[in-house]
Amino acid sequence: MNPPFSSWQRELAEAFSSVDALCRHLQIEPHQLPLLEDFKQFPLRVPRGFVDCMRKGDPNDPLLRQVLPLAAELESREGYDGDPVGDLDAVAETGVLHKYHGRVLLIVTGGCAVHCRYCFRRNFPYDELQLSNGKIDEALAYIESHRELREVILSGGDPLLISDIKLQRLLTGLRGLKHIERIRIHSRIPVVLPSRMTDNLLNILTHRDTRTILVLHANHANELSDAVADACERLRQHNITLLNQSVLLRGVNDNLTALCDLSERLFNIGVLPYYLHSLDHATGTGHFEVSESVGKQLVRQMQGLLPGYLVPKFVKEQAGAHHKLPLI
Ligand SMILES: *Cc1c(COP(=O)(O)O)cnc(C)c1O
Ligand code: SF4
Repeated sequence: MNPPFSSWQRELAEAFSSVDALCRHLQIEPHQLPLLEDFKQFPLRVPRGFVDCMRKGDPNDPLLRQVLPLAAELESREGYDGDPVGDLDAVAETGVLHKYHGRVLLIVTGGCAVHCRYCFRRNFPYDELQLSNGKIDEALAYIESHRELREVILSGGDPLLISDIKLQRLLTGLRGLKHIERIRIHSRIPVVLPSRMTDNLLNILTHRDTRTILVLHANHANELSDAVADACERLRQHNITLLNQSVLLRGVNDNLTALCDLSERLFNIGVLPYYLHSLDHATGTGHFEVSESVGKQLVRQMQGLLPGYLVPKFVKEQAGAHHKLPLI
């Protein structure tokens, strides 16, 4: 049973939601920043543990940049829109995205523990399309009827934001489907809210017959604090395979040192780099764009410095494609 209000839930409730409070805490003068004034539609949200990994007094801190609403979000850019990767066309059932062979993705919730300004789903109509409780049986029926599926991906939003009880119910349903061999969870929570990795959650995630893969999302080595490392260690002790996906972001990790340090740090805490995504062109995210040619050059330089297993696959997602497209 969940305690009525566990420590991770308290930590989440205490996340920063005010730019002024965040700037004050970081000893930054908000008036010096080209801030976005009205961001009610996609509010600021940053757990304190993530803020603790930011450098004080540095308005260009790579972690701060990921969460700070800037006026640049209002610039309109050609080729940027609300549904950049064609998710809306891939909805098979409410909450079910079926784009690729053998795997299906569930939009478990629209909520996240952190709001990343570059998010490709920041304009996603979650209210209509997330997997609400009443829709789980239909999603399971869809998966059951598609015998070619091997893997179910829990995504969102952040699937680890839902309660243990709901998660357990969903996982039990999925593990009951004989053709599903793997359950994969795409979550940023182990990085931004490691206290969520409670013993109860780890037990729920572990299963004898169905393997669990957790794909974290970290973009910079500074995100990977000792608390995150501990959480990863405990996940691995529970036989959970750990991978990481990142997004190549201007002003965050668009340099060789940042990318190599991220890969090295990930490996040190037991995580392998999986994907480095080229930015999806979602409205409001253009100021994060790094050109594909610069991205390719950076990844080629990584290949010259790191063993192959520490070089993530540099990919982009294209609406209608049957897999993520390798850029190198
Ligand atoms: C990215 C994505 C996946 C996972 O792709 P992999 O290459 O298996 O990591 C699956 N379904 C959807 C809809 C996706 O967007
Ligand atoms: S955690 Fe993932 S889904 Fe949530 S805002 Fe960040 S990038 Fe988007």
